[in-house]
Amino acid sequence: MKPNCLVHYPLLVDHPKMCPLNCYFCRPVSKQMDTYILGIESSCDDTSAAVLKNTHILSNEIANQRVHQSFGGVVPELASRAHQQNIIPVVDIALRKAKVTKNQLDAIAFTRGPGLLGSLLVGTSFAKSFALGLGIPMVEVDHLKAHILSHFIDDETGLDHPQFPFLCLTVSGGHTQIVKVESASSMEIIGTTIDDAAGEAFDKAAKIMGLPYPGGPEIDKLAKLGDPDKFQFPEPKIEGLNYSFSGLKTSFLYFLRDRLREDENFIEQNINDLSASIQSTIISILLKKLKRASRETGIKEIAIAGGVSANSGLRKAVIETATKERWKTHIPKLQYSTDNAAMIAIAGYFKFLEGDFATQDLTPYSKSKFSNFK
Ligand code: ADP
Ligand code: MG
Repeated sequence: MKPNCLVHYPLLVDHPKMCPLNCYFCRPVSKQMDTYILGIESSCDDTSAAVLKNTHILSNEIANQRVHQSFGGVVPELASRAHQQNIIPVVDIALRKAKVTKNQLDAIAFTRGPGLLGSLLVGTSFAKSFALGLGIPMVEVDHLKAHILSHFIDDETGLDHPQFPFLCLTVSGGHTQIVKVESASSMEIIGTTIDDAAGEAFDKAAKIMGLPYPGGPEIDKLAKLGDPDKFQFPEPKIEGLNYSFSGLKTSFLYFLRDRLREDENFIEQNINDLSASIQSTIISILLKKLKRASRETGIKEIAIAGGVSANSGLRKAVIETATKERWKTHIPKLQYSTDNAAMIAIAGYFKFLEGDFATQDLTPYSKSKFSNFK
């Protein structure tokens, strides 16, 4: 039998070990054949819900918020309001597409942080009330860990999963980390950015060139048509496995300021080459430390994750480096590299198996709680 009923226990003062509701906690483990997890992601500007049967994905729905486009960045207050409007329809569609009823769910996994507090509150409150109403446990998930564990999502295309231990380069809009992953629950950050994230470097460079937000995908598109060796930008000299991207942004800004003084059409005339050159500098910075991390740890099983891992130049460069360095690489499918709830569900599934459940009194966190994940 499972231990005490955690959901209804407080209500049962006289008989704390007996739950009259036959909720999940009170059912014998052997009756749990397959595990159905609903994942909820609401950390930034995408509302997403996904259903997993064990590690297998049944649905992964994402409602993108268009309200931010005219502002050149995410407006937190608008994001939380949009999440409130989107969350119920998105969960409803995810369940329908998965052909799973709410009563079949075994747990609800949700992003607790890091992210925008108002946005996280919507997903967290929804998860709490849905779990309480259904009498099932909920599992809190760290968004960054989920990016890494997205490599364990099974779908019909059947990609190989990384073998432990592996190194994961997590590159997103807010974070840049090299993580040594020993297991689904034991991870150590061995390198991190000391200022801007790689995604921020893409977004800021794009903004300087007058491209729309988010700039990463725009630069990726234009870079395909440009010469990556046309312009050179200095790479930072940071000790160990850490990164820095704020200097690159500044030198890009000054470089363009000087060129624009000579020719006011400089950006328009060179947009493809500028995009290709800044992209290749960011990739070169990322790969140098990743190579060093692999040599220092002796780990050749390498994964990339996070929004920037969607970048076609980075994907290509990782595959090329793999041949030289004899790496076995794991590149996420595009739908699992940017924010999505399937990765929250898979991370939740691993914690569910360990009985690592969240309590109703928890609150979200905006900054990552981990100096490392252990
Ligand atoms: P978050 O930091 O909210 O977790 P994501 O993991 O979704 O964000 O990553 C968003 C970041 O990924 C943004 O900075 C965006 O510009 C960047 N990005 C998305 N696609 C690409 C791409 N093809 N090339 C470069 N950067 C990209
Ligand atoms: Mg993310």
